Amino acid sequence: MTMTQPTVGAAMRWALSQDIIAAIKAHAQSSYPAESCGFVTRSGYLACTNRAADPSNQFLISPDEYLKAGQIFAVVHSHTNGRDYPSEADMRGQLSAGVPWGVLLTNGQETGDVLWWGDGVQIPDLIGRPFRPGPSGSDGKGDCYALIRDWYRLTRGVTLLEFPRESDWFHQGQNLYEDGFGKAGFRPLAAGEQPQEGDVALMCLLPRITAAHHAGIYLGGGLLLHHLDRRLSAREPAERWAKHIKLWIRYEGSS
Ligand SMILES: [Zn+2]
Repeated sequence: MTMTQPTVGAAMRWALSQDIIAAIKAHAQSSYPAESCGFVTRSGYLACTNRAADPSNQFLISPDEYLKAGQIFAVVHSHTNGRDYPSEADMRGQLSAGVPWGVLLTNGQETGDVLWWGDGVQIPDLIGRPFRPGPSGSDGKGDCYALIRDWYRLTRGVTLLEFPRESDWFHQGQNLYEDGFGKAGFRPLAAGEQPQEGDVALMCLLPRITAAHHAGIYLGGGLLLHHLDRRLSAREPAERWAKHIKLWIRYEGSS
């Protein structure tokens, strides 16, 4: 067997099956302009009926179809609205399902690759990854929190709380970093405490937004690992970002 998709781990060998991928893509294309939805099961791709009231923007699978499917390895659906990454509702759905989810974009004529995400999906490289809103996945991309969460999984074996989010949550009045870090097991550094490896810098970059909407992880030696929109994730001197840092926080474990 040739591994053509190095970002997909051993637990997801089925994602390499050309038959399954072809069936998912064909279903997405034939369902357009509605979103397609279905399951990956032991016997392959199982196409389901999208019962959402607004099937061009949502999908809904009946409980009957869930029950009939048997063991579900993954849930997959298409987007027909131009967005090639999971929505906040998709992230919530994946977390409650507890199996990887896949999303693929179609315009009825062309259909993109399936982006798989969820903690069963192999973590992409931390440095040099392209930016995409939301969690990291099989496309090798992610956002600034995805990078922090992946760093903790890879280097500390800690799975931080996930925060379902839209790409522009901070434009919608949300304050996910500052409201969420306590729940995720972090505490603010006290005055005079120096940052250590693994500490997270919460930053404000946009002039009119007071909620911290960017974050990076301190690697020691004066280096900050972070992932800015439209840039590759990178290690940079923390000093360069000092004026944007609103708060340093330290992971102490969730109780
Ligand atoms: Zn979706």
